[in-house]
Amino acid sequence: MKGRFTRSMAGVAVSALLMAHAPLSAADATGPSDADLVGDAASTGDVLTYGLGPQGQRFSPLAKVNDGNVAKLVPAFAASLGGEKQRGQESQPLVYDGTIYVTGSYSRLYAFDARTGEQKWKYEARLPDGIMPCCDVVNRGAAIHGDKIIFATLDARIVALNRNTGKVVWNKQIADYQAGYSATAAPLIVKGMVITGNSGGEFGIVGAVEARDVNTGELIWHRPVIEGNMGTLRGKDNGMTGKLNASWEGDQWKTGGGATWLGGTYDPETNLIFFGTGNPAPWNSHLRKGDNLYTASTLAIDPDTGVIKWHYQTTPHDGWDFDGVNEFIPFDATIGGKPMKLGAKADRNGYFFVLDRTNGKFISASKFVMQTTWAGGFNKNGRPNYIEAGRPGAAQGTEKGSTVFSSPSFLGGKNWMPMAFSKDTGLFYIPSNDWGMDIWNEPIAYKKGAAYLGAGFTIKPIAEDHIGALRAMDPKTGKIIWEYKNKAPLWGGVLTTGGNLVFTGTPEGYLKAFDAKTGKELWKFQTGSGVVGSPITWEQDGEQFIAVMSGWGGAVPLWGGDMAELTKQVSQGGSFWAFKLPKR
Ligand code: CA
Ligand code: CA
Repeated sequence: MKGRFTRSMAGVAVSALLMAHAPLSAADATGPSDADLVGDAASTGDVLTYGLGPQGQRFSPLAKVNDGNVAKLVPAFAASLGGEKQRGQESQPLVYDGTIYVTGSYSRLYAFDARTGEQKWKYEARLPDGIMPCCDVVNRGAAIHGDKIIFATLDARIVALNRNTGKVVWNKQIADYQAGYSATAAPLIVKGMVITGNSGGEFGIVGAVEARDVNTGELIWHRPVIEGNMGTLRGKDNGMTGKLNASWEGDQWKTGGGATWLGGTYDPETNLIFFGTGNPAPWNSHLRKGDNLYTASTLAIDPDTGVIKWHYQTTPHDGWDFDGVNEFIPFDATIGGKPMKLGAKADRNGYFFVLDRTNGKFISASKFVMQTTWAGGFNKNGRPNYIEAGRPGAAQGTEKGSTVFSSPSFLGGKNWMPMAFSKDTGLFYIPSNDWGMDIWNEPIAYKKGAAYLGAGFTIKPIAEDHIGALRAMDPKTGKIIWEYKNKAPLWGGVLTTGGNLVFTGTPEGYLKAFDAKTGKELWKFQTGSGVVGSPITWEQDGEQFIAVMSGWGGAVPLWGGDMAELTKQVSQGGSFWAFKLPKR
């Protein structure tokens, strides 16, 4: 382990020398600009951002593949990630100028030819032995800017590579992996800055969002998301987050959790970055009084300064690992005759939230799963109507506390997998799961680098016929318009298109297409392993391509108990699949 770490440091030093002595030529530096990234949703010839646009709507106007012909979709090519490291492939590919960039398990990044699938180069991060990813060795995608392709690694670092050669340009530490930090989210690029969060919510870390210069990796601002911690801007203090001890007792804010592990979205219209924050630490809520801000929240952050402009907490005083980290997607709609700039989030806690994205004002919370045992809806101020019997009891001395049945389970009504919003139908398509858990509290004390839960659990089904459910949600009414039930838990992202289509993958190995208006299944293809990646689409040489990563893994096989049994026959994998219509 020591040897590997030393070699990795030597690699950093060499690339620093190259940078100092061989400045990039103008030609090398060409590539997607900030404006190209902002315009990504409309430019159909490329996929430049995680979410098909900085707002993360995952909507493409392309309609060559549509509800009338999708049944004829066939594979165009596939590409294997190879190696023995076939684990959960939760990545969303990027496509630019004839190249596909895709990240793989164990912090790997690949460049494939976008017409043939042939590999151009690959980069494998040298990971130290002591990394502590909670929920499989996944990576969710890269970011592209100029001549660079940038991704986060499991040892809580961020690496920029030359996108033509795969050579390291810079490599920076986000946080200390030995304290439990890691990184798996796709970076967000805004105004020449790489914006990242951190992972490690099960280890008593402090969640943070930070911005770096895309050309050098130098830190611009750092914003901890737990009240009491100090933010910085260009090396100087830039105000405390919240107010010391306003929602935390004693020193608990120093180990308060709130991991920002899913990355963020950016809304150019309001110039706000939106990040979700994860569970407070420890899980055992009796050990930390108060609302524990800003855990289990959505934060709006000024990208120019790193200052929090507004917050909305979806699970105050979370006691179930509801971990409200889910993506917040800006959208516009007319409500009560008034055109509004809104945003939506389908939370692990089972509720779909609509907020005014200009100020964080609560508009509505609608249940999108079968059952929520912890709260009976939300009041007009956006506070949950708690069901006290739904909270697991306090531990007594060294004895565990009383067990309660809770639904959703801690794996959530929806976990990491991103939903999509169709500009055509006005609906959100939510990859959700119906399941519960027995949960109890236990005594726990913080120890650096050790799990900090103070809780135990057993996941249980709540329906005979399904766990997964892809649901179409009308954000104006909070009504479910249609649902597709899947036997195994859904764990992949969603794409919707101008062809009246919705695409998502299943653990059983299928990429499926549905009618966006009715939910009717129109096409499926068996990829050979479970699909937990996020599909994309782009146009190339006059044809529309649909693509997705295949490779079963993620949190379900590790933590899902009986649910993991449901998928134990699924083979592991690591392949990129591209589809198109046959040529006439
Ligand atoms: Ca684009
Ligand atoms: Ca968590």
